[in-house]
Amino acid sequence: MCGIVGYIGVKEKRNFLLDGLKELEYRGYDSAGIAVLKDGEITSFKATGKLNNLATKTKDFTSVDFGVGIGHTRWATHGKPTEANAHPHWGEFSYIIHNGIIENYKELKNELLNDGVKFLSQTDTEVAVHLFEKNVKELGDCFKAFEQTVAALHGAYAILLICKK
Ligand code: GLU
Repeated sequence: MCGIVGYIGVKEKRNFLLDGLKELEYRGYDSAGIAVLKDGEITSFKATGKLNNLATKTKDFTSVDFGVGIGHTRWATHGKPTEANAHPHWGEFSYIIHNGIIENYKELKNELLNDGVKFLSQTDTEVAVHLFEKNVKELGDCFKAFEQTVAALHGAYAILLICKK
């Protein structure tokens, strides 16, 4: 089992997310990542192995003032424990982290591949961010698009998604 942390507000976000993930470390994980949305831009980092590796990679990153942050420790179920498969995963304007399994990811992935979507990872998670963006383009509304996306995902899971729109 892995961990998932989210923060919205004005506190410094890198330390908040890393501290939160540290609290969840006992659950076990093979890689970790964070993403922060601030002033309409998203910055993300990922690292394999222990949280110290992510802490080192992000040591010069700080994000104060209003923003939204998401953090994840991964226990691989779909795809090897590589940096490419670590979360967050992204599309054109959104970043996602996810605990659990999307049981119907293969059929969703095939549909998205037919639409010309390019995948960067072997995870089940990545289908969710691309499906979300397809729904945003169709519906023009992020909240409705997220509801429609979740309704299409089968399995037991938790998701945090941030979106520039
Ligand atoms: N199924 C996802 C993956 O393999 C999430 C695993 C987890 O819960 O950490 O990346």
